[in-house]
Amino acid sequence: MYPVGHLALGYLAGVGVARASGRTRPRLRQELLPLWIGALLPDLVDKPAYLLGLADATRWAAHSPLFVLLLWGLWFILHLRGTPARPLALLTLGVISHQAADLVDGAVSGLLFPDTNLISTWFTWPFIATDTWAVELDSAIFPFKAPITPLELVVVAAALAVAWHLRGNFRGPPREQPRNPDHTLTRDRSPGGRPSSHLSSS
Ligand SMILES: [Zn+2]
Repeated sequence: MYPVGHLALGYLAGVGVARASGRTRPRLRQELLPLWIGALLPDLVDKPAYLLGLADATRWAAHSPLFVLLLWGLWFILHLRGTPARPLALLTLGVISHQAADLVDGAVSGLLFPDTNLISTWFTWPFIATDTWAVELDSAIFPFKAPITPLELVVVAAALAVAWHLRGNFRGPPREQPRNPDHTLTRDRSPGGRPSSHLSSS
Protein backbone atom coordinates (compact mmCIF):
# COMPACT_ATOMS: atom_id res chain seq x y z
CA MET A 1 0.00 0.00 0.00
CA TYR A 2 1.28 3.45 -0.94
CA PRO A 3 1.45 6.39 1.51
CA VAL A 4 -1.83 7.78 0.14
CA GLY A 5 -3.66 4.61 1.23
CA HIS A 6 -2.12 4.73 4.72
CA LEU A 7 -2.99 8.43 5.05
CA ALA A 8 -6.57 7.70 3.96
CA LEU A 9 -6.82 4.97 6.60
CA GLY A 10 -5.39 7.38 9.20
CA TYR A 11 -8.07 9.89 8.23
CA LEU A 12 -10.83 7.29 8.68
CA ALA A 13 -9.34 6.39 12.09
CA GLY A 14 -9.45 10.11 12.95
CA VAL A 15 -13.13 10.27 12.06
CA GLY A 16 -13.69 7.26 14.33
CA VAL A 17 -11.77 8.95 17.18
CA ALA A 18 -13.81 12.14 16.72
CA ARG A 19 -17.07 10.17 16.78
CA ALA A 20 -15.96 8.43 20.00
CA SER A 21 -15.38 11.89 21.51
CA GLY A 22 -18.88 13.05 20.53
CA ARG A 23 -17.75 15.14 17.54
CA THR A 24 -18.33 14.78 13.82
CA ARG A 25 -14.98 15.90 12.38
CA PRO A 26 -11.46 15.03 13.57
CA ARG A 27 -9.18 17.86 14.75
CA LEU A 28 -6.25 18.44 12.39
CA ARG A 29 -3.38 19.16 14.79
CA GLN A 30 -4.49 17.23 17.86
CA GLU A 31 -5.80 14.11 16.12
CA LEU A 32 -5.08 13.79 12.40
CA LEU A 33 -1.44 14.85 12.58
CA PRO A 34 -0.31 12.18 15.12
CA LEU A 35 -2.47 9.58 13.37
CA TRP A 36 -0.90 10.40 9.99
CA ILE A 37 2.65 10.35 11.41
CA GLY A 38 1.91 6.94 12.96
CA ALA A 39 0.29 5.69 9.74
CA LEU A 40 3.51 6.43 7.81
CA LEU A 41 6.04 5.65 10.55
CA PRO A 42 6.66 1.92 9.85
CA ASP A 43 7.70 2.68 6.25
CA LEU A 44 9.65 5.79 7.30
CA VAL A 45 11.73 3.60 9.64
CA ASP A 46 12.01 0.28 7.81
CA LYS A 47 12.52 1.34 4.19
CA PRO A 48 15.54 3.58 4.95
CA ALA A 49 16.88 0.82 7.26
CA TYR A 50 16.67 -1.61 4.32
CA LEU A 51 18.39 0.84 1.96
CA LEU A 52 21.16 1.34 4.54
CA GLY A 53 21.63 -2.42 4.81
CA LEU A 54 20.44 -2.63 8.41
CA ALA A 55 17.29 -4.61 7.63
CA ASP A 56 16.90 -7.79 5.57
CA ALA A 57 13.52 -6.69 4.17
CA THR A 58 11.50 -3.52 3.63
CA ARG A 59 9.13 -4.62 6.41
CA TRP A 60 11.24 -4.98 9.49
CA ALA A 61 11.25 -3.84 13.16
CA ALA A 62 8.70 -1.01 12.81
CA HIS A 63 6.27 -3.42 11.08
CA SER A 64 6.30 -5.80 14.09
CA PRO A 65 3.90 -5.87 17.06
CA LEU A 66 7.00 -5.33 19.27
CA PHE A 67 7.19 -1.79 17.90
CA VAL A 68 3.57 -1.22 18.95
CA LEU A 69 4.42 -2.68 22.36
CA LEU A 70 7.36 -0.25 22.69
CA LEU A 71 5.15 2.75 21.83
CA TRP A 72 2.44 1.53 24.17
CA GLY A 73 5.06 1.16 26.95
CA LEU A 74 6.19 4.76 26.40
CA TRP A 75 2.56 5.90 26.52
CA PHE A 76 2.03 3.94 29.75
CA ILE A 77 5.08 5.55 31.43
CA LEU A 78 3.91 9.04 30.41
CA HIS A 79 0.41 8.18 31.61
CA LEU A 80 1.76 7.05 35.02
CA ARG A 81 3.74 10.29 35.33
CA GLY A 82 0.61 12.29 34.59
CA THR A 83 2.05 13.69 31.34
CA PRO A 84 -0.57 14.23 28.61
CA ALA A 85 0.09 11.40 26.17
CA ARG A 86 -2.94 11.41 23.87
CA PRO A 87 -0.83 12.28 20.77
CA LEU A 88 1.36 9.23 21.44
CA ALA A 89 -1.73 7.03 21.82
CA LEU A 90 -3.02 8.34 18.46
CA LEU A 91 0.40 7.83 16.85
CA THR A 92 0.37 4.24 18.10
CA LEU A 93 -3.12 3.79 16.63
CA GLY A 94 -1.74 5.05 13.30
CA VAL A 95 1.09 2.48 13.47
CA ILE A 96 -1.43 -0.30 14.19
CA SER A 97 -3.52 0.83 11.21
CA HIS A 98 -0.41 0.66 8.98
CA GLN A 99 0.53 -2.85 10.11
CA ALA A 100 -3.05 -4.14 9.81
CA ALA A 101 -3.40 -2.58 6.35
CA ASP A 102 -0.14 -4.18 5.14
CA LEU A 103 -1.24 -7.56 6.48
CA VAL A 104 -4.70 -7.48 4.86
CA ASP A 105 -3.38 -5.80 1.71
CA GLY A 106 -0.80 -8.56 1.28
CA ALA A 107 -3.38 -11.31 1.74
CA VAL A 108 -5.85 -9.76 -0.75
CA SER A 109 -3.07 -9.07 -3.28
CA GLY A 110 -1.70 -12.61 -2.90
CA LEU A 111 -5.15 -13.97 -3.65
CA LEU A 112 -5.58 -11.84 -6.77
CA PHE A 113 -2.16 -11.30 -8.35
CA PRO A 114 0.74 -13.58 -9.39
CA ASP A 115 4.21 -13.41 -7.76
CA THR A 116 2.71 -11.96 -4.58
CA ASN A 117 2.85 -13.56 -1.15
CA LEU A 118 -0.53 -14.46 0.30
CA ILE A 119 1.04 -14.40 3.74
CA SER A 120 4.55 -13.72 4.97
CA THR A 121 6.33 -13.63 8.31
CA TRP A 122 7.51 -10.02 8.36
CA PHE A 123 5.29 -9.25 11.36
CA THR A 124 7.10 -11.86 13.50
CA TRP A 125 10.34 -9.83 13.65
CA PRO A 126 12.80 -10.57 15.29
CA PHE A 127 11.81 -14.17 15.99
CA ILE A 128 11.27 -15.59 12.50
CA ALA A 129 13.08 -14.33 9.40
CA THR A 130 10.94 -12.65 6.75
CA ASP A 131 9.43 -15.02 4.17
CA THR A 132 10.24 -18.16 6.20
CA TRP A 133 6.64 -19.32 5.84
CA ALA A 134 5.82 -17.30 2.77
CA VAL A 135 2.81 -18.70 0.95
CA GLU A 136 2.24 -17.90 -2.69
CA LEU A 137 -0.73 -19.15 -4.73
CA ASP A 138 0.07 -21.02 -7.94
CA SER A 139 -3.00 -19.72 -9.71
CA ALA A 140 -3.83 -16.14 -8.94
CA ILE A 141 -7.17 -14.76 -10.17
CA PHE A 142 -5.63 -12.06 -12.41
CA PRO A 143 -2.78 -12.77 -14.88
CA PHE A 144 -0.78 -9.65 -14.01
CA LYS A 145 -0.04 -7.41 -11.04
CA ALA A 146 -2.10 -4.23 -10.66
CA PRO A 147 -0.21 -0.98 -9.96
CA ILE A 148 -2.58 -0.19 -7.08
CA THR A 149 -4.00 -2.82 -4.75
CA PRO A 150 -7.79 -3.22 -4.38
CA LEU A 151 -7.60 -2.43 -0.65
CA GLU A 152 -5.86 0.88 -1.35
CA LEU A 153 -8.56 1.82 -3.87
CA VAL A 154 -11.33 0.96 -1.40
CA VAL A 155 -9.70 2.83 1.50
CA VAL A 156 -8.98 5.99 -0.54
CA ALA A 157 -12.50 5.96 -2.02
CA ALA A 158 -14.02 5.52 1.46
CA ALA A 159 -11.92 8.39 2.90
CA LEU A 160 -12.90 10.70 0.01
CA ALA A 161 -16.57 9.76 0.42
CA VAL A 162 -16.46 10.44 4.19
CA ALA A 163 -14.58 13.75 3.68
CA TRP A 164 -17.16 14.77 1.04
CA HIS A 165 -19.99 13.86 3.40
CA LEU A 166 -18.42 15.80 6.30
CA ARG A 167 -17.57 18.88 4.24
CA GLY A 168 -21.12 20.14 4.85
CA ASN A 169 -20.11 20.68 8.47
CA PHE A 170 -17.81 23.52 7.40
CA ARG A 171 -20.79 25.50 6.22
CA GLY A 172 -22.73 25.53 9.45
CA PRO A 173 -26.52 25.34 9.58
CA PRO A 174 -28.33 26.50 6.43
CA ARG A 175 -29.28 30.16 6.53
CA GLU A 176 -32.93 31.02 6.52
CA GLN A 177 -34.13 32.92 3.51
CA PRO A 178 -35.23 36.44 4.55
CA ARG A 179 -38.95 36.74 4.38
CA ASN A 180 -40.41 39.28 2.06
CA PRO A 181 -42.54 41.41 4.35
CA ASP A 182 -44.46 42.72 1.36
CA HIS A 183 -45.24 39.36 -0.18
CA THR A 184 -48.93 39.83 0.56
CA LEU A 185 -48.90 43.12 -1.36
CA THR A 186 -47.28 41.85 -4.56
CA ARG A 187 -50.45 40.26 -5.86
CA ASP A 188 -51.77 41.85 -8.99
CA ARG A 189 -54.43 44.31 -8.10
CA SER A 190 -56.87 46.22 -10.23
CA PRO A 191 -56.48 49.98 -10.58
CA GLY A 192 -59.23 50.29 -8.04
CA GLY A 193 -57.30 48.28 -5.48
CA ARG A 194 -59.30 45.07 -5.86
CA PRO A 195 -57.60 41.75 -6.77
CA SER A 196 -57.53 41.15 -10.55
CA SER A 197 -59.41 37.86 -10.22
CA HIS A 198 -62.54 39.92 -9.58
CA LEU A 199 -62.17 41.68 -12.99
CA SER A 200 -61.76 38.58 -15.15
CA SER A 201 -65.48 37.71 -14.96
CA SER A 202 -66.37 40.41 -17.58
ZN1 LIG B 1 4.43 -0.88 5.35
